[in-house]
Amino acid sequence: MAMLELAGVHVYYGHVHALKGIDLEVEEGEIVALLGANGAGKSTTLRAISGLVRPREGSIRFQGQDLLRLPAHQLPALGIAHAPEGRRVFGPLTVEENLTLGAYRQADRAVVEETRRWVFDLFPRLQERRRQLAGTMSGGEQQMLAIGRALMSRPRLLLLDEPSLGLAPLVVRQIFHTIREINRQGVTVLLVEQNARAALKLAHRAYVLETGTVAVAGPAGELLRDPRMQEAYLGGR
Ligand code: ATP
Repeated sequence: MAMLELAGVHVYYGHVHALKGIDLEVEEGEIVALLGANGAGKSTTLRAISGLVRPREGSIRFQGQDLLRLPAHQLPALGIAHAPEGRRVFGPLTVEENLTLGAYRQADRAVVEETRRWVFDLFPRLQERRRQLAGTMSGGEQQMLAIGRALMSRPRLLLLDEPSLGLAPLVVRQIFHTIREINRQGVTVLLVEQNARAALKLAHRAYVLETGTVAVAGPAGELLRDPRMQEAYLGGR
């Protein structure tokens, strides 16, 4: 059984039919990339998984439980964390305070402290800047903080929406390197990316969305070599 399984998921925003029957699986331990043009439905897919939008049809199973049958307040306890597009860190709060907020369900302060040490090991820059206001950090640092905050809930599945958005290539490399490390340490990752080539080098498998449906799916290495992918998403060689 896959860790996460979407079957026939349809999402509407008013009259906009954003997801038109998405089927997708993520196995425990994988990094899976979700690729596609602007407006294809990538962010909406993540929002459906984390309960921010409610599908009109279909099922979303996480570790055997149908998320669409659970009340929304039970979702945070299941082990899914979502680092949304645009980072959304709390600018007037420090790095440390932002991280603490990510652990709001954890009452045991020793566990919070230990988890923060783990996040600081993954992102030493956050430790250096622990007392800096998040709003004054660079784009790359804010992205690290957004991922770090999501990790503070000790998720089993991490949903990442465009972690490379607007960042310089060197910073993107650092962040992707850390995502691989997070995965090695046992966190399953579903990653939305515009940068298809970089995402396919990081991921085990990928799905390509086109206007709310899955157009292509397969192992990342195969998609990197696929001529149709080259032309449409990888900008040739
Ligand atoms: P991008 O990379 O541009 O974020 P995406 O693949 O993540 O694209 P989504 O953000 O999931 O795409 O959007 C899918 C479709 O749903 C688009 O047509 C978009 O305009 C529409 N949409 C998304 N959010 C809303 C909303 N809150 N209200 C109305 N339509 C929306």
